[in-house]
Amino acid sequence: MDTKLIVFDFDGTIADTQEAVIAITNRLAPEFGFPPLNEEDIAYYQQLTAKEIIQQSRVCWWQIPFLMKRVKEELKKEILNIKPFAGIETALEELKQNNFQLGIITSNSQENATQFLRQHGLLHCFNFVESSFYLFGKDKAIKRLLREKKISPQATIYVGDETRDIEAARKSGVTAVAVGWGFNTATALANCQPDVLIFHPSEVVCSLVSQIAQC
Ligand SMILES: [Mg+2]
Repeated sequence: MDTKLIVFDFDGTIADTQEAVIAITNRLAPEFGFPPLNEEDIAYYQQLTAKEIIQQSRVCWWQIPFLMKRVKEELKKEILNIKPFAGIETALEELKQNNFQLGIITSNSQENATQFLRQHGLLHCFNFVESSFYLFGKDKAIKRLLREKKISPQATIYVGDETRDIEAARKSGVTAVAVGWGFNTATALANCQPDVLIFHPSEVVCSLVSQIAQC
């Protein structure tokens, strides 16, 4: 079946928020009682799955939703300084021009993602921008969306930069496209066996080669 719907993750896939998120997290570290992250910590965490990070981090598990909420609030103040990854704007425009439905399901807030897309003239590319409150709830959000839109999982792709994005795609039966320009390392992503692992946004377009004559 031909692909109709391409759902993107936001942070680390479209928007390069990593540096800002780490700086915010470190500013909040004293309040939440954990030591600030250094470059070594970050490089180590990038090899792990989200579940492993939570198990090994020094933040209490029950504090994580509160920390996430605070990070999103702080990021809202800086969202206009965040840049898209090189090549992502062109790829989104090309996909839109080729009549794919595009959407976002993010653990960030709908407001942050929408504001960013508007700032970079990309909001018109997307049919929807949805927030999934729970860190591991993206599969449920994808399933609900497919029911609402009456689109089959076989006609849908989920594109994300973390191992939990691949897991969400698997659980919801859609094709998992992992991107190597975001948070997790290519090895960590490959270990989760995505359907496709790509390293440049133009490859999202080219992976749909049979449906796009120009590629
Ligand atoms: Mg991400």
